[in-house]
Amino acid sequence: MTRQTLIAGNWKMHGLTEALGFFGAIAPIAAKSPATVLVCPPATLLQQAARACDGTVVRVGGQDCHAAPSGAHTGDISAAMLRDAGATHVILGHSERRADHGERDADIRAKAEAALAAGLVPVICVGETLSEREAGREVEIVAGQLAGSLPENAASVDLVIAYEPVWAIGTGLTASVADVASMHAAIRERLPNPATSCILYGGSVKPDNAAELLGLADVDGALVGGASLNASDFTAIIEAASRKRE
Ligand code: PEP
Repeated sequence: MTRQTLIAGNWKMHGLTEALGFFGAIAPIAAKSPATVLVCPPATLLQQAARACDGTVVRVGGQDCHAAPSGAHTGDISAAMLRDAGATHVILGHSERRADHGERDADIRAKAEAALAAGLVPVICVGETLSEREAGREVEIVAGQLAGSLPENAASVDLVIAYEPVWAIGTGLTASVADVASMHAAIRERLPNPATSCILYGGSVKPDNAAELLGLADVDGALVGGASLNASDFTAIIEAASRKRE
């Protein structure tokens, strides 16, 4: 069985209306790629981004959602609202959410269940800090995050997990190819559907390192932050992913 290849862009808190031209620039490259191409802009651009992608293969997603379907949660966005705006996926448990908003594994599990209930694919992020890696605890940390944050019905859905070592996000540092390979294998063996689950690598993926990382057997794609803000960098990463299936 072939697992999907997914290249996902995370724009974080970047992008005004003028950034929407990005979608027209990447759509022809995405159309030629066997990889699924997803871009997660800020929530303010989601509906316009979805419209810009209408009739193309490019999908759009949210960067977070609330666990409740609706209610008195000022400033929050539900999974159904993301879906209504045109999202197909939602990033959950990004290390910046864990750090800036104190999100714990149980919160991420609840959000993942809400996302699935609303018809969204959750992209669940896990990853160790530098001190945890230096202490040799990276597998223990990631295994704990998986055990705590996978949805209750994880065995009956095809999961997307993003392994993002915290120290590699936005720093220009990437984990070594050997470290990525062994962590992805460790993650896969802990998933209820290892054969069909999609495991992304994230952490300073750029055009010049994408082919090597995406060439690894257990790496099914990438979650890309900084390089997803630039159409030529992002399309170069999509093209590197296309070569994975050649
Ligand atoms: C991310 O935002 O998930 C990420 C991996 O960022 P960057 O590619 O900039 O390291």
